[in-house]
Amino acid sequence: MKLHRQLEMELPFSSYKHHPVFGYLIHCSKGAQPLKEWNEILLVKQIWRIITKDNSLWSVWVNLVKLKGQSFWDIAPKQSDSWGWKFLLKLRDKVKDHVGAEIVNGSIKYHWITNGGKNVPFSTQHVWIDLKSNKECVSWYDAVWFKGYDPKQAFILWLTILNRLNTQDRMMKCLPFQDLECDFCGSEADSINHLFFKCDFSLKVWKAMKNKLIYRGLTDDLQGIIQGIALYPFKRNIWCILNRLVVAACVYFVWQDRNNRIFRKEARSEDVLCRIICSFIQCKLLTFKVKQSVVVNKVEGIWEIKWL
Ligand SMILES: [Zn+2]
Repeated sequence: MKLHRQLEMELPFSSYKHHPVFGYLIHCSKGAQPLKEWNEILLVKQIWRIITKDNSLWSVWVNLVKLKGQSFWDIAPKQSDSWGWKFLLKLRDKVKDHVGAEIVNGSIKYHWITNGGKNVPFSTQHVWIDLKSNKECVSWYDAVWFKGYDPKQAFILWLTILNRLNTQDRMMKCLPFQDLECDFCGSEADSINHLFFKCDFSLKVWKAMKNKLIYRGLTDDLQGIIQGIALYPFKRNIWCILNRLVVAACVYFVWQDRNNRIFRKEARSEDVLCRIICSFIQCKLLTFKVKQSVVVNKVEGIWEIKWL
């Protein structure tokens, strides 16, 4: 029983199936799409655990009970296998070209091979980029994934641009009898368009942050903002980085606060959110190496930082 519970926790699909909300959404075509994709990414994580033989209960169980000494790459699905296990085996084709290994000090070290052929440590972000997003060669790719991006924030921004956040307008298609309202302003159900940045609350946050940009020609709607950024391909100059950091941080922290309001009943004011975004950007900016210039001095003044 204990083992069963532990496996449920380690297997993302089974835990979603038993979740009161996600369990329902998984059967609802439109709302389920982002979850399905995200779930696939999490299943790749489980595959990674099996092949790297980490010490998780899941990996030990699969190697002992399912594989019994056979290779994960060669084992054939049996009719009696659960659909979850069959699904996992199906994913092998997508994953196999991304798995690399080398011998380091006598032991095998695994790494993920990106679509560009780079060896990187395994992470769900890399899986997402390589298996899902890179298929779409979009002009705004580097507006999100630029050198110096914050992984969590870039990921949320990417989902936002692809309209894959579970906003209330999507939920209402699955739960038609629910009347949901934006937790910031209460004027309508939240949606990507509303949250970024038609809502009075998030618009105030965005405008305050936009005032701290060197390039202020960006509009007040996310689509326009991303198009505006994509007009200027990424170069390692500070204003290019600053634009991208600020947009991703605004989207991330607004989305985080929206979720905190719904799920934790915690609310922060616009001013507090702006302060949080500011301190994040200040810390992030200081991680870059810069050469002194008029623009760099301007950034130092606006953001009250000093590069050494
Ligand atoms: Zn609102």
